[in-house]
Amino acid sequence: MPFKDSEVQKAYDRRKYEKNREHIIDLRMRRYALNKEKEAAYQKQYAEENRKQLSVYHKKWKRNRSAEQKKKDREYARQYRNSDYRKNPSKILARLKVYYAIKTGNLKRPDHCTRCGLVCTPQGHHPDYSKPLEVVWLCDPCHKEEHS
Ligand SMILES: [Zn+2]
Ligand SMILES: [Zn+2]
Repeated sequence: MPFKDSEVQKAYDRRKYEKNREHIIDLRMRRYALNKEKEAAYQKQYAEENRKQLSVYHKKWKRNRSAEQKKKDREYARQYRNSDYRKNPSKILARLKVYYAIKTGNLKRPDHCTRCGLVCTPQGHHPDYSKPLEVVWLCDPCHKEEHS
């Protein structure tokens, strides 16, 4: 025993223990941080590998399409390029807003055309797409006329 007095010895032990404890916690934290870094690197690598593999798969799939499928895909791409969304995103957004407003009960679709009175499920026509909830409810013929 380096200390004669047992109280001094106890205090010394406690300090040692506390110092040690701090050291252990510090080590643990460091290991944790390191692991976290490793884990993140691993995840990144995994995602990268996955992406590469998927891209190879996709290329293969693209090559192996039938002529018919290729024609179809070209047609889809063309349709997308010419789609309403590409030409006029606010139009699509306005339609979506109407759709959700109906779903949530904030907007009510009448059971007839507000122009000619035909009983039908009228389509929402937007005189102004920047006011998505200002909708005129029109039957199909009236709606077509509106846009012609
Ligand atoms: Zn319209
Ligand atoms: Zn009508």
